[in-house]
Amino acid sequence: MKTIIEPFRIKSVEPLLFTTKEQRKELLQKAFYNPFLLHADDVMIDLLTDSGTSAMSSAQWAGIMLGDESYAGSKSFYHFESTIQQLTGMPLVIPTHQGRASEKILFSIVGGKGKYIVSNTLFDTTRANIEYSGAEGVDFLCEEGKHPSIPAPFKGNMDVEAFEKFIQEKGAANIPLCMVTVTNNSGGGQPVSMANIKAVKAVCSKYSIPLFIDACRFAENCYFIKLREEGYSDKSVESIAHELFSYADGCTMSAKKDAFANIGGFLAMYNVELAKQCRNLLVITEGFPTYGGLAGRDLEAIAIGLNEVMDEHYLQYRIRSIEYLTEKLVAAGVPVMQPAGGHAVYLDAKAFLPHVPVDQYPGQALIGALYVEGGIRSVEIGSLMFGKYDADGKLIPAMMELVRLAIPRRVYTQSHIDYVAEVILEVFEKRNQIRGLEIVEEAPALRHFTAKLKPL
Ligand SMILES: *Cc1c(COP(=O)(O)O)cnc(C)c1O
Repeated sequence: MKTIIEPFRIKSVEPLLFTTKEQRKELLQKAFYNPFLLHADDVMIDLLTDSGTSAMSSAQWAGIMLGDESYAGSKSFYHFESTIQQLTGMPLVIPTHQGRASEKILFSIVGGKGKYIVSNTLFDTTRANIEYSGAEGVDFLCEEGKHPSIPAPFKGNMDVEAFEKFIQEKGAANIPLCMVTVTNNSGGGQPVSMANIKAVKAVCSKYSIPLFIDACRFAENCYFIKLREEGYSDKSVESIAHELFSYADGCTMSAKKDAFANIGGFLAMYNVELAKQCRNLLVITEGFPTYGGLAGRDLEAIAIGLNEVMDEHYLQYRIRSIEYLTEKLVAAGVPVMQPAGGHAVYLDAKAFLPHVPVDQYPGQALIGALYVEGGIRSVEIGSLMFGKYDADGKLIPAMMELVRLAIPRRVYTQSHIDYVAEVILEVFEKRNQIRGLEIVEEAPALRHFTAKLKPL
């Protein structure tokens, strides 16, 4: 088999700004050992997130110029609407400024005190919007999804049995919605199988609970189905996507992921009454129903991106580039989550830095080392992000200490990825020299964004 090449050529480039290791040491210190506080210009390879960081195509940029900025009934809205109708089969399409705006609207209506929203794993903004409404979010992730180093094809699956038992316990009337996240972002970008979606749908139907899909990475998930699930290897990703959406009663999406857009999102559904209520909230918080929180040009770029993302040469390159980096790390003995997910590589910081105790934030220490060594920015998904304190002020650590390297879509080439692997291996060799950190200042909520730390 020949090398899988980037299925695009480059028309417009953006220079990377180089820094020296000495400069980065100082920059990291000035940023209080928190890469969120770095200026992006001081980062060489930015793997903080794959959200809103995609490179748009020449067709999308052309669409930006075609954007119709009419307040009501814009041509770009109808392009956006028909694209999503064709993709999902859902007739009612509501544009929003990003995924969490869709969630805020949906859960303001179906959530509320005493209600439970169930899922394979809720993404953090989804959970936050559910809890803000007064409802409770409950995750039923399959057993294999809970073990980072044990490979399995569909580690994003929902535990259907546990879900049904929960319905019998709490009563279907208290469960207004089930949400399946594809791929499972918080669970390492792991896919959900079609068989699992069908099984979840069967339980939902039995108890008349609507099934919604958090569709942020639907195309990556459908490509995994094509690769790994029996009976799908001959089907197009587009037809797999049609089938996947056919089991759902609605969906939310952030266009900052699998629509290659830098901003945007939507809600889609069948239920006319629910859509009416959503639009009533939309006009208060986002905008008129034919633009939501977006400019006409954004609607146009999203419509084009949603079709581009199903190109199988693109998806092959996309999934392969994450797998390629994972393989290089595994071969060198670096502890990583397996198998590779759809959008990011996850290092197991606890195993990487066994000499750094969890209350000294090994994940954060590791992202600092990756930055100093090679100018790479990544994010800690561990006790700095999710840790809490007990009554005596002692840290209650997160379940895992991970470092996520999220790969922006169509932005970096294979040599960038090779460079990232080299930097990680270099840091792995010198791992004994990495020291833990202590927090010197933190906010009461979402502290990882702004916390200030110092080395011990
Ligand atoms: C990013 C994301 C969201 C939220 O979307 P935003 O556009 O960031 O508001 C919701 N669910 C999942 C799975 C995501 O990855």
